[in-house]
Amino acid sequence: MPQPMTDPSLSISSKSVSNLASEQTQRTRRDCLRQLAGWGAAAMATQFAETALAQPVSEPKKDRRKLLDCHLHINHFDRSVEDTIRHMDATGTTKAFVLPLETGEGGVTLRSETVLHAFHLYPDRVIPFCQTDIRQPDVLERIKAYHLLGCRGIGEQKEHLPLNDKRVEAVIALCDELNWPITIHFQDGPGGYNQGLADHLEAYLKRYQRVRIIGHAQTFWANISADVPPAEKSLYPTGPVKPGGLLDRLLGDYPNLYCDMSAGSGFNALSRDEEFTAGFITRHPKQMLFGSDCPCRDGAGENFKGTCYNTQLQAFLERIVTDESILDDIFFHNAERALNGTA
Ligand SMILES: [Zn+2]
Ligand SMILES: [Zn+2]
Repeated sequence: MPQPMTDPSLSISSKSVSNLASEQTQRTRRDCLRQLAGWGAAAMATQFAETALAQPVSEPKKDRRKLLDCHLHINHFDRSVEDTIRHMDATGTTKAFVLPLETGEGGVTLRSETVLHAFHLYPDRVIPFCQTDIRQPDVLERIKAYHLLGCRGIGEQKEHLPLNDKRVEAVIALCDELNWPITIHFQDGPGGYNQGLADHLEAYLKRYQRVRIIGHAQTFWANISADVPPAEKSLYPTGPVKPGGLLDRLLGDYPNLYCDMSAGSGFNALSRDEEFTAGFITRHPKQMLFGSDCPCRDGAGENFKGTCYNTQLQAFLERIVTDESILDDIFFHNAERALNGTA
C-alpha cells in the first residue's frame, strides 16, 4: 500500500448509510439544479434531476473489452469517490471490487460505509466488499449486516494476525456460509498480515470449499516460485522463478483459490520471469484476476510516480497472453465467477 490515506467518511461515520446516500442525493441534485438554472435551462433541470444519480460520471470507453478491477480502494491519496470513478473511466474499467480497510493497519483507513455509499451512487460500477475489525466480539453480526446492505464479499482482510488465528478462520467460515469471496493480504514477517501461508492456507482450502479465497500481496506472490526467500530478507524477490512453487500446486488442487494480480507485488511476480508467467497463466487460466490496487487519479500515474498499476498490467497481459479468450477471462469473467461462486 503506497501511502497513508484518510477516510472521507470519518466525520460522518455515525450516520446511517441510507442517510448518507440521501444527503448525497440532495447535494448532487442541488448542485445540478443550480448549475443548470445558471444556464437558463430550468425545464431541463427538473428532468435531469431525476436521472442525475443514475449516471453521475461518464461511461467507460466503449471500444475496449470489458474490464473488472478486482482490487480498488477509494481514498488513496485522499482520492474522492468521483476521482475513483474517473480512474475507472480513464483506464477503461467497467466495474471494480471496492475494498474497505476499516482498521487502517496498513496505513490505510476506508470504512465499509464509505464503500456502500459509493455503491449507492454508482451501482453499475462499484461492487462493494466489506471489512471490519475481526477482533471485535460482534464481528460476525456486523458482517451479516453488511451482507444485508448489499456487500458481496470480505476484503481486504489485512490485520496483524497470523493466518491460523481462530478469528481469521471464523470470517473465512462465514464467507463459506454466505457463498462469498474473501480477498486476503498475505505478508509474512514481523509486522505482516495473515502470516503463515505456506503452513496454513491449504487447510482452509480443504475445509471450506465454497468460499473463494483471493490471494493478494507479497508472500502470496513470492510463492509463485519454489524458492521463497525469508520475508525478513525480501518481500519482492526478483529473477528467474524456480518451477514447482506452492501456488502452482494449490491452484491445481483447489479451484476455489484465485490470484489477485494487483499492485507492485503482483506485477513484480508476473514480470520477473515472463516465460514462466506465460506457462503459469496457461496452467490456471480460470483463476487469474485482473486487479490494480492503483492509487492514481488519472490512469497515467500523475500523482503516483508516473505509474498506473491498471494500465501497466493491462499492457503487460496484452503482450504476454496471446489467447483472446484467456484475456477475456482474466480481465472480466474470472472475477465474475469468483464473485458469484459459479466455478
Ligand atoms: Zn489494497
Ligand atoms: Zn492508476
